[in-house]
Amino acid sequence: MEPARELEVLAEADVVVLGGGPAGVCAAAAAARAGASTVIVERNAYFGGMATAANVNIWHQLWCNNFERPVIGGLPREILDRLAAMGAARNYRPDGRGPYTICSESAKLAYDDMALGSGVKPILHAWLAGVAMDGADRVAAAVIETKSGRFALRGTVFVDASGDADLCARAGAPTTVGDADGLCQPPSLCFRVGGIDFARAQEAQVNTRTIQRELFAGTMDYNGGKYPTFLWGAKSVWREDEMMFAGVRVPGVVCSRWDDFTRAEIEGRYQMRWVMSQLKRFPGYEKCHLVDIGAQIGVRETRRILGEHVVEAHELLDGRRPADTIAQGTYPVDIHNPTGPGIRFKYLDGTERAIDGSGEATVSRWDGAADGAPRRETPCYCVPYRALIPQGLSNVLVAGRCVSATHEAAGALRVMINAMSFGEAAGAAGAMAASGCRGAVREVSTDALRARLIGNGVPLLETEARLASVG
Ligand SMILES: Cc1cc2nc3c(=O)[nH]c(=O)nc-3n(C[C@H](O)[C@H](O)[C@H](O)COP(=O)(O)OP(=O)(O)OC[C@H]3O[C@@H](n4cnc5c(N)ncnc54)[C@H](O)[C@@H]3O)c2cc1C
Repeated sequence: MEPARELEVLAEADVVVLGGGPAGVCAAAAAARAGASTVIVERNAYFGGMATAANVNIWHQLWCNNFERPVIGGLPREILDRLAAMGAARNYRPDGRGPYTICSESAKLAYDDMALGSGVKPILHAWLAGVAMDGADRVAAAVIETKSGRFALRGTVFVDASGDADLCARAGAPTTVGDADGLCQPPSLCFRVGGIDFARAQEAQVNTRTIQRELFAGTMDYNGGKYPTFLWGAKSVWREDEMMFAGVRVPGVVCSRWDDFTRAEIEGRYQMRWVMSQLKRFPGYEKCHLVDIGAQIGVRETRRILGEHVVEAHELLDGRRPADTIAQGTYPVDIHNPTGPGIRFKYLDGTERAIDGSGEATVSRWDGAADGAPRRETPCYCVPYRALIPQGLSNVLVAGRCVSATHEAAGALRVMINAMSFGEAAGAAGAMAASGCRGAVREVSTDALRARLIGNGVPLLETEARLASVG
């Protein structure tokens, strides 16, 4: 039994954001810029979530698949511009319309600037410890644990950007985990490797695919198992001899559970040691060395909310445009096998690509069309505001990878440019709900929200309803 106690109210804000990952910082910045007093709580020493703490350094394109128009803008665009101004973002296309590699360390600085420059009050090194409810459906305060003890943060609206829907779960909202069997995409430890001679590796035709194939052919020394990983990496924006490897996978864990999370971290490091020992036998990698390991294992999937609408993969892949669309994206459905090696992609153009443990790829069509049939030209997918609203709570919104979606749809939505777009929308909506609707997030006018987002540079397309009304 823990005795009841009174808590000091550390702050009262229009909008309280839990989690300072890509989604949370954008939510807080958008809320503050819309005039809401805004507090953000983050358990790490810095913002950025997986982009910084887990070394994930690839951000996807802001443009539609034929590169004719941007479908993402606003705060994701702004943070990339901030990184580019530091020289810390490199685009894969000469015209700047492709995906980016970023410097994870510089992202810590860019997110500081975005949060503080927007007038957000930051609280770092603070964990959510609970919630105080006002009735069954209204969160009155977030309880946080800090170095100075436990405090309450009163808010009119709360944005749960924890990635794991921690606040919603504590407030009793319904959530779901992983696929139909509760299995999640595996987490991966991302580590940086230096001392690589890429010219020599290229000459010997060594790349992540060939390394993957050879690692999969053997067994791992620490547990005698098969290498369960889809190995990929991204070269450093600064150094010619350095690469971030997402080279480790731990299947069968749910990282919103303390015991699985602990096991994943330690098993991830054992697997990484084995990978490092193997890398040295490839041409170009003879002198490679470990530069650093992400401060935590990278988590792809845990708990998601059950929202007012659960986004399904076919809605995304068919390019449906609901009337309350608040964000758009192009990143494909990307499912790392929850139980072993292999990965599967479904693209907006109708194709599907499955890669097995040995790196062999099989291309087919998910849309039933013949293999050689013309590809679809869907410009992007659209995410409705209803996917940010958790069932059972009146003054809470969700942003980031824990939005309301099926396992398959979440495989597309989870990437950072999308997480930031949801954050921007949740923050703007939170500010509107706090000022005009006493925090009731369902009362926000989605037309007004869309207009605000468009005004802030989010290039939302016409919705199906609007297209129909104008003929
Ligand atoms: C190995 C790997 C590779 C990936 N590759 C890519 C890629 O190439 N491109 C891409 O765009 N995306 C990629 N992703 C996905 C992407 O990184 C995440 O889905 C994305 O970061 C989600 O953003 P988020 O803000 O929702 O959550 P997160 O980035 O997880 O941020 C959540 C934040 O909340 C904080 N937090 C959580 N719980 C609490 C709590 N209880 N109290 C206080 N603070 C809390 C965390 O510390 C963290 O800062 C990858 C992910 C992984 C793991």
